[in-house]
This record gives sequence, C-alpha cells and structure tokens, in this order.
Amino acid sequence: MAKLHATDTAQATIDKAVQIFGGAGVVSGNMVERLYREIRALRIYEGASEVQKVVIARAVIAEAQGSRA
Ligand SMILES: Cc1cc2nc3c(=O)[nH]c(=O)nc-3n(C[C@H](O)[C@H](O)[C@H](O)COP(=O)(O)OP(=O)(O)OC[C@H]3O[C@@H](n4cnc5c(N)ncnc54)[C@H](O)[C@@H]3O)c2cc1C
Repeated sequence: MAKLHATDTAQATIDKAVQIFGGAGVVSGNMVERLYREIRALRIYEGASEVQKVVIARAVIAEAQGSRA
C-alpha cells in the first residue's frame, strides 16, 4: 500500500512539475524530463501498480471475510 501510494504521488507530482516547466519540461537533458522518465518506471517494477491493486484488494477481502467468521 505504501509503495502504491508513494509511486502514484510521485507520478502526480512530477506530472505537475512538467506542466509548470512547459516545453522545457519535456526537453531531453532537463532535470524535470529526466525525473519524469525515472519516476514513471517506479510504477512498473517491484510490482506494477495494477498488480498491487489486485494484491491489496485480495488482502482486504480476505480480512473482511475473516472478521465476519
Ligand atoms: C527500470 C526497471 C528496472 C527493473 N529492475 C528489475 C530488477 O532489478 N530485478 C527484476 O527482477 N526485475 C526488474 N525489472 C522488471 C520489473 O520487475 C518488471 O518489468 C515488472 O514486474 C513488470 O513486468 P513486465 O515488464 O513483464 O510487465 P507485465 O507484467 O507484462 O505488465 C504489463 C502491464 O500489464 C499490467 N498487468 C499485468 N498483470 C495484470 C493484472 N493481472 N491485472 C491488471 N493489470 C495487469 C501491469 O500493471 C503493466 O501495466 C525492472 C523493470 C524496469 C522498468
């Protein structure tokens, strides 16, 4: 849950930074452009966001079913 939240937040933050920098934010070599590419990969490796959502949903459902028994 922490990884999913942190990487989604980082993605939203760097997306805003690119928007603020405008055209300069997508120029190769610009720090914001480099961070945008680097942060994007964080939502893929060590458990892609979609897969993490499936894993979290399974855990939440299992816990809810356990507390009902
Ligand atoms: C920069 C970088 C560094 C990496 N470093 C390492 C490393 O050091 N060691 C290592 O072992 N691996 C490493 N990897 C590999 C990484 O762990 C895999 O890329 C990652 O697990 C995703 O697997 P995949 O690329 O085969 O994509 P896939 O598993 O084919 O996924 C492609 C897309 O489909 C989605 N998807 C897949 N299954 C489901 C599902 N059931 N439901 C919904 N959506 C789904 C994913 O969320 C993703 O968006 C690295 C990858 C990158 C990009």
